[in-house]
Amino acid sequence: MGRVLITGGAGFIGSHLCERFLGDGHEVIAVDNLLTGDRDNIAHLFVNPKFTFLEQDITNYLYVAGPLDAIMHFASPASPVDYLELPIQTLKVGSIGTHKALGLARAKNARILVASTSEVYGDPLIHPQREDYWGNVNPIGPRGVYDEAKRFLEALTMAYHRTHGVNTRIARIFNTYGPRMRMRDGRVVPNFMCQALKDEAITVYGDGSQTRSFCFVEDLVEGLTRLLWSDEPMPVNLGNPTEMSIHDFAVKIRDLAGSKSRVVFRDLPVDDPKVRQPDITRARRILGWEPKVSLDEGLERTIRFFQQKLKDA
Ligand code: UDP
Repeated sequence: MGRVLITGGAGFIGSHLCERFLGDGHEVIAVDNLLTGDRDNIAHLFVNPKFTFLEQDITNYLYVAGPLDAIMHFASPASPVDYLELPIQTLKVGSIGTHKALGLARAKNARILVASTSEVYGDPLIHPQREDYWGNVNPIGPRGVYDEAKRFLEALTMAYHRTHGVNTRIARIFNTYGPRMRMRDGRVVPNFMCQALKDEAITVYGDGSQTRSFCFVEDLVEGLTRLLWSDEPMPVNLGNPTEMSIHDFAVKIRDLAGSKSRVVFRDLPVDDPKVRQPDITRARRILGWEPKVSLDEGLERTIRFFQQKLKDA
């Protein structure tokens, strides 16, 4: 069994990765500066002697003593609201933070999987999105800080692979949801669920005709694990191809929550992509992976999580 470093280990996906790697018998070192991560996400892991947490900003330095077999580089603000509030930190962690993570992978001779995003496709002109599409990104718009940071992350990762022979993997992660999303993270799933559970108005941005495709975090983690242990250096889309409009999504969440909320319409954020759906042909072929958890089941499990959160709040 190996020793795995997870940057952003106290975040939503990062904390699920910590659990998964510990469950698979590995030693796990989680690094997080807790800017958008939360110690509560990993509190239950502290009793495990194979788990270590380092509160550290990886844009300053990233070093761990001893050998490393793998690095999962997941540190970054990931909600549009967060990267609007933290534009420079978002750019720094995607660029400088990624440089440090790749440098550490090289020094330790460890394989590294970097978290990229469907945002590299921007407001896509090709639908569904395949890995060979180069995207339609506004570099100077408010979302550009995230999109360009992640595009730089991909470029730097390929440069380390080609120049230094580092064993790299690039996951392009599409919309993912599940327990441990922050209640006030601003993304559509926590917003709609908390609004529905409190019988408050559900805020659909724009006319709600824009589409997204939502993947349950457990499915994503399975795909990420398979990608890490594969030998595929080129980007792989990971997401659930089940696509729906945001308006239909609002109604679905309201119904599943048994809520009396009404749906209201608010301004559409600048550069909000009109459509998004992963083409997962490559993931199916290379990893033998596809999502297993249905949208209804995943949403119900996530609603139960937010119900408990609201009760504890
Ligand atoms: N959205 C919405 N109401 C909300 C939050 C988000 O209608 O309260 C929309 C948002 O405009 C976007 C979609 O839901 O079209 C998904 O937004 P999210 O912030 O989750 O992430 P994105 O997919 O845009 O990165």
